[in-house]
Amino acid sequence: MRPSGRLHLGNWLGALKNWVKLQESYECFYCAVDVHALTTIKDREEAQSIQGNIYDMVLDWLAAGINPDKSIIFVQSSVPDVLTLQSLLSMITPLGWLMRVPTFKERIRQMDTTEDSVSYGLVGYPVLMTSDIILYKADTVPVGEDQLPHIELAREIVRRFNNIFEPIFPEPKAVLTEAPMIFGTDGFSKMSKSLDNHLELAATPEETLKRLRPAYTDPNRLRKTDPGNPEVCNIYKLHNYFNPSQLTKIHDECSNALRGCVDCKIELGEKINESLEEFRYRRKIFEGQPNFVNDVLESGAAKARLIASETIDEVRSCMGL
Ligand code: AMP
Repeated sequence: MRPSGRLHLGNWLGALKNWVKLQESYECFYCAVDVHALTTIKDREEAQSIQGNIYDMVLDWLAAGINPDKSIIFVQSSVPDVLTLQSLLSMITPLGWLMRVPTFKERIRQMDTTEDSVSYGLVGYPVLMTSDIILYKADTVPVGEDQLPHIELAREIVRRFNNIFEPIFPEPKAVLTEAPMIFGTDGFSKMSKSLDNHLELAATPEETLKRLRPAYTDPNRLRKTDPGNPEVCNIYKLHNYFNPSQLTKIHDECSNALRGCVDCKIELGEKINESLEEFRYRRKIFEGQPNFVNDVLESGAAKARLIASETIDEVRSCMGL
């Protein structure tokens, strides 16, 4: 994950919960990709927020149940071999492949810039991501739908490397999460910090209720006495994740104008708070141990560096260096 600071419900349902589960059946590597964060950097201030964002994000991972005894947790740039691998893979990656990636075109549009003025680093984003994956010879990558083109490209780069040199890398495959798209409090766009439509995992119960209060529901339901249409209401969709046993009741009451949107949001807020109780409790405990996150990251980086150096030795030898 790019270090974006405190995580929200979209990150949790769309990625983190699944990451926790995967620890039971896989040897997992979870990495805060700080160099990727630099690919779209605007100024020095943004660069200086990266360290704090790593801390907040990794604290959320640990509170959610990512376990440093089971998984390797580290910061991308603390394993410098990833940059060597990126550089070597860039020698066999055609520029055309990178320019055609849909996320690249999308990013250029978002940044309101042109292909000519965009940084070399941003064009090479998927090569760095491929290095993140294959440096540890990972065969499986848990991602959201938006990342599928990057995984496809990683597979192509691996095939090319294996063909030209030696077949030392497995072709990584994507595993999709169960909740690929959680909408925000505006009701219609992807929950995201940049849109300020998010609900933070580490918020207090009061903050969560407060942020839900103005959330959009069924736009056609103007009065409590109007029958609602739960299918178009994001609050109803969120009940599905946090209050599944009451779903039929909520659907009936809303459709028959027997429940108001305010009460429905309060009930959802309480259920979200209940689901996050353990997370918030653990986060507080970890917060009180100032060295905990750093210790986890240091020990993760040491393990990752060992594996990475073996891979790099193999790659150098394959490539005649
Ligand atoms: P980001 O920092 O936006 O790249 O998100 C990190 C992870 O959370 C990625 O695996 C995303 O696919 C996932 N994610 C972010 N926002 C959402 C959302 N609104 N719904 C579902 N998954 C999300």
